[in-house]
Amino acid sequence: MKTSIAHAILETHQGKQANRILRNCVHCGFCNATCPTYQLTGDELDGPRGRIYLIKQVLEGKQPGALTLSHLDRCLTCRNCESTCPSGVDYGHLLDIGREMVSERTQRTTSDRFKRFMVRKLFLTRPLFNAAIATAQSIRTFLPKEIKQKVPEKTENLLGWPGTEHARKIILVTGCVQPTLQPNIDRAATIVLDRLGIQTLLIPKSGCCGGISHHMDAYDEARATIKSNIDSWWPFIENNQIEAIISTATGCEVTIKEYGRILADDREYRDKAARVSEFSQDLSEYVATQATPRARAKHSNQKVAFHPPCTLQHGQQIRGKVEAILQDAGMQLISFQESHLCCGSAGTYSILQKTMAEQLRDRKVQHIESAQPDVILTANIGCLLHLQSGTHIPVKHWIEMLV
Ligand code: SF4
Ligand code: SF4
Repeated sequence: MKTSIAHAILETHQGKQANRILRNCVHCGFCNATCPTYQLTGDELDGPRGRIYLIKQVLEGKQPGALTLSHLDRCLTCRNCESTCPSGVDYGHLLDIGREMVSERTQRTTSDRFKRFMVRKLFLTRPLFNAAIATAQSIRTFLPKEIKQKVPEKTENLLGWPGTEHARKIILVTGCVQPTLQPNIDRAATIVLDRLGIQTLLIPKSGCCGGISHHMDAYDEARATIKSNIDSWWPFIENNQIEAIISTATGCEVTIKEYGRILADDREYRDKAARVSEFSQDLSEYVATQATPRARAKHSNQKVAFHPPCTLQHGQQIRGKVEAILQDAGMQLISFQESHLCCGSAGTYSILQKTMAEQLRDRKVQHIESAQPDVILTANIGCLLHLQSGTHIPVKHWIEMLV
């Protein structure tokens, strides 16, 4: 794509990156065919090609307005367009650059800013989040349907943490909301890894991966969170104590894999950040290299539908690994239409862009339900809760089936 990026922007690290990415785009529009938001609205500016054009205009010096902001906000960051693009356009990276520039040059409405601030504070302040969820769960029966759907029932049968020490170790990133909402997922992962002779280390000082802040315009907060995580994990890397840094949420994993890119212009942290990203592995990637973990008999022969999160299949370009693990463990995997499309969860998208998120969820659920699985599996807490809010079929994390 022909560009003439403003000189002052082109001098910056981000400007150079954006220029390189834009030049790969040939404006063919193939990406629109697999863009969920374009499929919903049919508006060119709600597709990747249109959004790339909007970002290009900002890079060329055009003042962005509410229209640009809203079309970029409506992007799910699912990165399906990257999987489709024949020219290898690094759309997710360009979107990050575009969003940061647009957020610096525009002013959101007061209510929008307030909503974003509240969501961030609630998700990132664990005592506050725990108290809010505990209260909501205690009165769940009386909540209006719309809110009740979003609040998972309290987990009654908590799994135990294995206490065995092993020479082989990994760090498990627990993230911000998952330990409160679905506490058995990380426990299940540690049990499966323990059976494989791998010890899981939980690092209390590390929390959110930084993704929430990064995707909600709080870029300095995101960088501070990422640096704090790197500081907590670095001694384990430096002393060769761990094999990998793993999260059971693909949304967190994809962010950690991008630490190197996010801090590429930070002289102090860039090398460490790149090293942390190298150490980061998706749970399925890691488990797939180990001996097959056997599923308990009660789960074998169940008909399961696996919904691969966008952060797994597009963000990390990992396909087929979870499916192979489940099949090796004896489960019957059933396929369904449009498994490449986003379910509408997309981090905080389901809160900030509720209408489109629910349209995408209902479309996804309809396809999955028509395949009639006994259980729906996924690999990301956001997708799990979002799908569960739209179906009566139980939705679980795939690792829970191996316990
Ligand atoms: S991003 Fe790729 S698929 Fe989309 S218009 Fe550009 S070159 Fe074509
Ligand atoms: S990231 Fe997803 S929603 Fe955004 S432009 Fe690409 S395909 Fe469309």
